[in-house]
Amino acid sequence: MTKHDYYEILGVSKNSSGDEIKKAYRKLAMQYHPDRNPGDKQSEEKFKEAAEAYEVLSDPEKRRRYDQFGHAGMRGTDFHEYTDINDIFNSFRDIFSSSGFGGSIFDDFFRGTTSSRSKRRASTGVPGSDLRVNLKLTYEEIAAGVQKKIKIKRYQKCTDCAGTGANSGSGLEVCPVCNGTGEIRQVSRSVFGQFVNIAVCHNCGGEGKIVKNPCSTCKGDGRVFHESTISVNIPAGVSNGNYLTLRGEGNVGKRNGPAGDIIVVIEEIQHEEFTRDGDDLIYELELSIPEAILGGEVEVPTLNGHAKIKIEPGISPGKILRMRGKGFPNINGYKTGDQLIQINIFIPSKLNSSERELVKSLLNSSNFIPKDRNKKSKTIFEHFKDVWN
Ligand SMILES: [Zn+2]
Ligand SMILES: [Zn+2]
Repeated sequence: MTKHDYYEILGVSKNSSGDEIKKAYRKLAMQYHPDRNPGDKQSEEKFKEAAEAYEVLSDPEKRRRYDQFGHAGMRGTDFHEYTDINDIFNSFRDIFSSSGFGGSIFDDFFRGTTSSRSKRRASTGVPGSDLRVNLKLTYEEIAAGVQKKIKIKRYQKCTDCAGTGANSGSGLEVCPVCNGTGEIRQVSRSVFGQFVNIAVCHNCGGEGKIVKNPCSTCKGDGRVFHESTISVNIPAGVSNGNYLTLRGEGNVGKRNGPAGDIIVVIEEIQHEEFTRDGDDLIYELELSIPEAILGGEVEVPTLNGHAKIKIEPGISPGKILRMRGKGFPNINGYKTGDQLIQINIFIPSKLNSSERELVKSLLNSSNFIPKDRNKKSKTIFEHFKDVWN
């Protein structure tokens, strides 16, 4: 993939200030925020691209190098491309915590994340990987919020060696490949000059030490693969593609390396009776002809039991009734959605002889004759206007 110019990505000039760059990035990050564009791959790419540009241009040293050498100047440095969206949230937490996503599902993940990825990376050992879990939820569960138990297979600390990977009594010895530094330095030359590449030592996995006598249970890994059950609290109002991050609940790293995260991705189970539209629920109610003409009370299902609604006499098909507050709670704490009842009228196609006589007798009854046969039917939009006004 060809890389775009970082200044172009952020829409700033080459001599813009750090403040301008920050402002521009914040705007793009909000625009392409996954919360606002669930499941949209293109937005996700833009979101990552903007984070990458911001990482370079917000750092004076990286920016200087980029100005001088372009994208090639970024190679072999501690610069990284973002493949995991959570890394973006962690790296630029200051941007997202002041983003106006107050009280949102994402803010909850940033709060109290003292064991954040960057901090964990600084601790010893190679971190374990993240796990991704899809969690299916019914509309009822989404509306009320729910605690779910998830069964997951993951690497956990080996209890026989307390995660060290070493047999009791035997210790660790300095890795002979990297002499205990955990890193291997390689100097490479290119037309842009000399670069020092620092790679993780393959022999010790970056730890600088290797196990002398490996633990027989975990074969020196310090971790074992186990199924476990964890419980997760889902806040009310989530929707398809939203995700929660369970910090430190993923695979533990080898030999007491810090644990990765579990990313729980929400998947809605389609409902038999309702369709979701944002925070609103749509329910199609079919009335008989006499019910539509005479009006009255009709029972309809809601996400928490049944409720009665009043049908005004002479209701027309396509009309939408609104049951306020009977939809989904808003994830950001805004107004709860409504349940919208869309009226259909059932026209029978089979009649017995007495029914036929009854209907025939209405044929020339004055109130049953349309006043204007050429009346343009109301659009759905106009029906909505009726409800809103
Ligand atoms: Zn080594
Ligand atoms: Zn062990």
